[in-house]
Amino acid sequence: MVKKARPSIQLRGHWTPGHSGITGNELGDDEAKRAAAGYSSARHKLPKAFQKQLPHSVSARKQAYRKRTEEIAAQIWSASPRIDRLAMRDLRMRRPARFFHKHTIKLNLTRRQHNMLVQLRTGHIGLNGHLFKIGKALTAECLHCEGETETVAHFLMRCPAYERERRQFLQRRGRRPETIAELLTTPEAFKRVIRYVDVTKRLSAIFGDET
Ligand SMILES: [Zn+2]
Repeated sequence: MVKKARPSIQLRGHWTPGHSGITGNELGDDEAKRAAAGYSSARHKLPKAFQKQLPHSVSARKQAYRKRTEEIAAQIWSASPRIDRLAMRDLRMRRPARFFHKHTIKLNLTRRQHNMLVQLRTGHIGLNGHLFKIGKALTAECLHCEGETETVAHFLMRCPAYERERRQFLQRRGRRPETIAELLTTPEAFKRVIRYVDVTKRLSAIFGDET
């Protein structure tokens, strides 16, 4: 086609791996990016085919739709009482047990401290939520909060009875509060979590008082 319009032109073909580092190609990429950002030539200067409104890109449409769906799903989840369970699942997926063990060794944790973290992470722990499930407590309710199941998340993150301890020992001063997944998967937070459990004395029947 080009040959027909300009018979004198010389064309040479090159094979290039992945199109990268070729000056012409890079320039083309830059122009495409500029166009995508809204810097386009005046409409009347464009080839005829591009002067009309282009059809919407199917993949861009799909992507926008998926993003919106995810946002709505996240909102529904965060309002759901099952969020605690989701958070626990998230924390197991994000940091596999191998990673966890490696760091508890690095931090020089005692067996008692290690067990405490494992129990917090799995939810198999002496809090009413779990004890009730396995038939070892008469209620799943928190001792301090009527109508609230005493889950790990309730105990660590929300129970108002331990607000003072939470602020003093668990949360970092002047920084945003961490999520439960962050607290239980970030080695930097492990000692704060242990300290918090100890000072609340909520689990001292199981773990004893700190020594
Ligand atoms: Zn409570």
